[in-house]
Amino acid sequence: MDQIQQLVAEVAGKSPKKIMLQLPAGLKMKAAEIVESLKKQGIETIVANNPCYGACDLADAEAKQMNCNLLVHVGHNKFYVDFPSEVPVLYFPWFIDIRINGIDLSKIKEKRIGLLTTIQHTTLLNDVKEKLDKNGFEAVIGGQVLGCWTFNADKIEDKVDAYLYVGSGKFHPLAVKNKKIYSLDMEKMQIEHVDPMVIEKRRYANIYNAKDAKTFAILVTTKKGQNQLLGPAEEIKEKVEKHQKSAFIVVMNEINDSALLGIKADAFINTACPRIVEDFFSKPIINTGDIDAALGD
Ligand code: SF4
Repeated sequence: MDQIQQLVAEVAGKSPKKIMLQLPAGLKMKAAEIVESLKKQGIETIVANNPCYGACDLADAEAKQMNCNLLVHVGHNKFYVDFPSEVPVLYFPWFIDIRINGIDLSKIKEKRIGLLTTIQHTTLLNDVKEKLDKNGFEAVIGGQVLGCWTFNADKIEDKVDAYLYVGSGKFHPLAVKNKKIYSLDMEKMQIEHVDPMVIEKRRYANIYNAKDAKTFAILVTTKKGQNQLLGPAEEIKEKVEKHQKSAFIVVMNEINDSALLGIKADAFINTACPRIVEDFFSKPIINTGDIDAALGD
C-alpha cells in the first residue's frame, strides 16, 4: 500500500463527510491526487493553502469555517504542546524513503555520534547507524527534533560527543546547541559541520540594538500552537513598563517584517515560534528569553 492509499484508508476509517486537507509546501503537488482518491471513497475534500510550518500551525479554524468535520494534517505528528482544536485532527506523517549510499564520513572527527532527524526521515536512522558502526563510530539513535524542540537530542547528550542530523537544510540542526552537530544533507548526500555562530551573532546584535528602544511592540500570533509559546504577552508588557519603557501588543497570523511595516515601535518582542527572530527584520527583534538582557536586568 503506498502512502496515499494508507492516508485514504485512515481518513475513511474516521467516516467523515467532508475534510480539510493541510499539506506542507513540499507535498502540495500531491493534493489533486489525494483529493481524487478520497472522492472515490465518497469523501469531499477542501485543500488548505495558507503556508504551513508544522503541527504548531493547524488549519482547524478554516476547516470549521468551511464546515469540514475533520482536519487531515499531513507531514507532521502531533505538536509537543497541547492546544485546543476547533475540529478533530488526524495527523498523517509522510515518510521519505531514500537509499543512503557512498557517504564520505571523514568529516566527522568524534567517535560517539547521536543521530537526529525530522519525522519524514526517521525510518532512515537504523540504516545510518549501521553505516557509522561499521566504520568504527558508536552511533546512538536520538530521534526526531523540531526547530523548537530538541528533547531527543538532550536525552542522549551524555552518551555522545557530537550529533549527526539526517535531513536537508540547516534549520533543524541549528536548534541543537549543546554539542557540535554535523548535517547529512539528503539532497547532496554530503556531511558538513553546522556552525550556530551565524545565528548567535544575529541574536546578540538584536539584544544590543534593543537596549536603546523606548517603545516595544510585543508580537502575538493567532497560530494556535505558536500562540504565546514563549510566554504570556500581558506579563511581558508589564515587565517592560516597569522599566519606564512603553509596550503594546500586536496580534497577527504571519509574523514577518513586511507585515510589521507601519507599526511604530523601536524594537519587537516575539512570543511565537522562537525561530522567527532568525528572519530579516528592519527593527531589532528578540525572543522573550532575552528580555532581561535587553532591559539591562
Ligand atoms: S520551530 Fe516554529 S514552525 Fe517549527 S514546529 Fe516549532 S514553533 Fe512550529
